[in-house]
Amino acid sequence: MRFKTQCIHAGQEPDPLHGAVMTPVYQTSTFAFKSADEPREFDYSRSGNPTRKALEECLAALEHGVRGFAFASGMAAESTLMMLYSSGDHVIMSDQVYGGTYRLMMNVIRSKGIDVDLVDLNDLDAIRGAIRPNTKLIWIETPTNPLMKVVDLAALAALARERGIQTICDNTFLSPYFQNPLDFGMDIVVHSTTKYLNGHSDVVGGAAVVSDPELGERVYYLQNAVGAVPGPWDCFLVLRGIKTLALRMEEHQKNGLAVARWLEDHPQVERVLHPGLESHPQHALAQRQSRGNSSTFSFYLHGGVKAAHALLNGLRLFSQAVSLGGVESLIEYPWTMTHAALPEGARREMGIAENLVRISVGLEDVADLVEDLEQALAGCTA
Ligand SMILES: *Cc1c(COP(=O)(O)O)cnc(C)c1O
Repeated sequence: MRFKTQCIHAGQEPDPLHGAVMTPVYQTSTFAFKSADEPREFDYSRSGNPTRKALEECLAALEHGVRGFAFASGMAAESTLMMLYSSGDHVIMSDQVYGGTYRLMMNVIRSKGIDVDLVDLNDLDAIRGAIRPNTKLIWIETPTNPLMKVVDLAALAALARERGIQTICDNTFLSPYFQNPLDFGMDIVVHSTTKYLNGHSDVVGGAAVVSDPELGERVYYLQNAVGAVPGPWDCFLVLRGIKTLALRMEEHQKNGLAVARWLEDHPQVERVLHPGLESHPQHALAQRQSRGNSSTFSFYLHGGVKAAHALLNGLRLFSQAVSLGGVESLIEYPWTMTHAALPEGARREMGIAENLVRISVGLEDVADLVEDLEQALAGCTA
């Protein structure tokens, strides 16, 4: 099956009982045994549920993995995966990650005796220098949030495999439509399905897909042991969202690039960070590694807090909100919104400054979006 067909059919057969074409929402906590010594496929919905199973098989197919797992949120997926590691282990993490990932790793995981080092993953020598005998994991995100740095997945996988280090890649920003990290040798791909996969801003969810059956067994054990699973209704909504993933991503890409190019030419804009623009430092790598770009990117304004606030408050169509990847356009201010969990010094060092704005371009008519940005930018003279 090809991608668009998988979006609609992978893991999803007409219901055996009544032939329902849409996967039913099995809103049940438990399943009756046939008899005392005859369990059925499912016994309890934390351990497994038919609606969740359909979503998990669909996700595994889209990410070219052997087994998929759905979670209650992206952070639930990440927390569960971190249970693969133990006190005394060492983790190398991208120096640019989602704010919640930073908080989990630096404030929670480190307090359990797992060491976490932040490294620029574009610098292979820096990674080699950071590797210790107890290094068990390299945590990757590409493109990064919110600065859209792209890292070389094949080079990282080769370096990690040589030393027996596992790799986990957060693929939330591109979705499997544009990038499949497992194809480059990553061990696990993780998603916030809240974003492009569900795509309609009405579910919080997460997922992990693994490349190896033995690793799949370990993650399944943890999924059941930890219990951070999604309910069947949320699984149904994500499955429904995925049916139009290919169509949505094509339109997101078009609208996003059009808005990025328009912003790049605007006198009030200092710089646009979008891997699809020729001006992006890793544009060539992005072209090679991904099949396209999503519609989430960032830009620096001329001016500081005042200019950023004037832009955000002046917009009528874009909602000021965290999150991304939905059909509606959103704009947010990483300095005080998504990345407030990072200490001020760390934010500045990364390049998350007071004049940085991140947008998620939706599926509205792009002419309306540009008009809205135009009128709002007119009101924010530095
Ligand atoms: C949103 C997001 C997460 C966390 O997912 P939740 O569903 O909000 O828990 C992780 N990584 C990235 C890149 C994200 O955008």
